[in-house]
Amino acid sequence: MKYILPELPYDYDELEPYIDTNTMKIHHQKHHQTYINNTNEILKKIPQFSHLSIKDLIKNLENIPEKYQVSLKNNAGGHFNHSFFWRSLKKKTNYNSNFKLVKKIHYFFKDINNFKQTFEKKATSLFGSGWIWLILDDNKKLIISCTSNQDNPLMGKKISGISGYPIFGLDLWEHAYYLKYQNRRIEYVNAFWNILNWEKAEIRFKNHLSS
Ligand code: MN
Repeated sequence: MKYILPELPYDYDELEPYIDTNTMKIHHQKHHQTYINNTNEILKKIPQFSHLSIKDLIKNLENIPEKYQVSLKNNAGGHFNHSFFWRSLKKKTNYNSNFKLVKKIHYFFKDINNFKQTFEKKATSLFGSGWIWLILDDNKKLIISCTSNQDNPLMGKKISGISGYPIFGLDLWEHAYYLKYQNRRIEYVNAFWNILNWEKAEIRFKNHLSS
């Protein structure tokens, strides 16, 4: 199986002014495409793993021959993370205080404002490139955590430092925001709340709860 670039569920300019058209184009057509191309190249050398879905591939990195583990972690992780990220966004946010996820957020983080502040604080304190996630951990607890590079909580604690199911994530690599926000990462993180697809997050949350 060859992985291919998934289409975005919106046009490149639809997340304006929060994420600019040029960033969306380069991010999707160049950065994401490169992770996919690299993953496909690596899998040519280990074809016995090429039938896996991208999600199963990143969940099974420990079974990959050691010499390919790091490059596959970075590139297959990049493909999964970006596909997941695009689906976490939408033109106009659809926050609804009746969502089960929102009620759970209130339970673990007091209220939505405190949750956002905690998220923003962690996002701005991540050093280097990586991602910030809302995760349902193995004890069904909601936590906010960052991972480095293209690591994902689905890779497990040994590889990514954290284990659990991501509910939504935000790309904190400079390529995700630098053209518009330069060094002002906090403005990019603040803008994220205007384009977060809460309904998608709610669906993921419910699916993981029952699994
Ligand atoms: Mn990215």
